[in-house]
Amino acid sequence: MKTKKVKLKLKSNVVNVLKIIGVILIILLIIFIYYRKQISNITELGYSEVAAKKILFDDNKEYFMTVKENKTLNAAIEGDNYKEKYIKNYAQIDYYDYKNLIKNVNTLLSKGYSNGDVNIILAHGNDEDITEFAKRERVRYLEEFFEFPYAKLKNYDRYLAYTDETGEDEKTTVIHVNLNMDKTEYDDAVSVNNFGYDMLVNKFHALSEMFEPTDLITVPEAYSGGETYQANRTAIAALSQMFEVAKTEGLEMKVNSAYRSYADQIEIQEYYRKWYGDNYVKNYVARPGFSEHQTGLAFDIGSTSTNVFANSKEYVWMQENAYKYGFILRFSKKNEVITGYRSEPWHYRYVGKDIAEYIYTHKITLEEYYVMFLDK
Ligand SMILES: [Zn+2]
Repeated sequence: MKTKKVKLKLKSNVVNVLKIIGVILIILLIIFIYYRKQISNITELGYSEVAAKKILFDDNKEYFMTVKENKTLNAAIEGDNYKEKYIKNYAQIDYYDYKNLIKNVNTLLSKGYSNGDVNIILAHGNDEDITEFAKRERVRYLEEFFEFPYAKLKNYDRYLAYTDETGEDEKTTVIHVNLNMDKTEYDDAVSVNNFGYDMLVNKFHALSEMFEPTDLITVPEAYSGGETYQANRTAIAALSQMFEVAKTEGLEMKVNSAYRSYADQIEIQEYYRKWYGDNYVKNYVARPGFSEHQTGLAFDIGSTSTNVFANSKEYVWMQENAYKYGFILRFSKKNEVITGYRSEPWHYRYVGKDIAEYIYTHKITLEEYYVMFLDK
């Protein structure tokens, strides 16, 4: 009898314990649902799950909720470099997907840069450039140089030195330095290996001995005065079209030179050295690797009516029409400073219609176009 009583009592205890556990579980579930709801209120604003979990227990939760979606704030609170005192700065700083973004932002802010300055700095370099830049003392003339989207953070010292030395304005300084014009021509040239209609070859951008253009074909005899020249197929098609249209307007043009290989250029150099001497070669003959003719995209154009192209009506016509076919006058008188070459009224370069039209409309050089759009 006694055992049965004990058993009954035990049974009712178990039921009670289960009841308590049940209640606790329900309470936990309610807390959990409430917690999830709070998290989702934050993630719905655009914060990540990781960020939301931290924001929920942060003293500045209300601030995060008021600012709403903000990628920089999100990155800051998500990572280990979050500094509460900069919370309002983060919200004003542009987001970049960089490993050291917040760390660098902290450093720059601590050096006294404004939010606007930090945005300027972030816009002009990659993570590595910014990390390097953040190490230095606060610099002057930030806005002056970096108002141009193509200014590079890593070139800052060279901009300063160049403008001091030459007295050039900020825009010219940025373009010249980005083109390496503060360095020694020929010796400090970067090497260009890939063929493209937009390729830049000049005293700072050299082709190797091995470089050969794509798709070389022979210039049609009708345009070559009986000589044999080669050039890029697309460029020749555009040139032919241009010459035919010119012909309907009573103008006769011919090609006087087109593709010249690295070896050709050596031969030319030696020829001129023999007859005209070193000085002439230095000033007037392109060194091997530095001639645009090696690209297969450059043509020396002549008029059939006169030997001096600059005096011909064909020259006048070319200046106003060549761009429609994808050609630019490569070395004009007014651009001598930037191209580094003396004026060559006969030398045209195929770059394709879009680039030619841009260069023509904006009255710039291929060098400037390169700095603005191609040099990454
Ligand atoms: Zn030429």
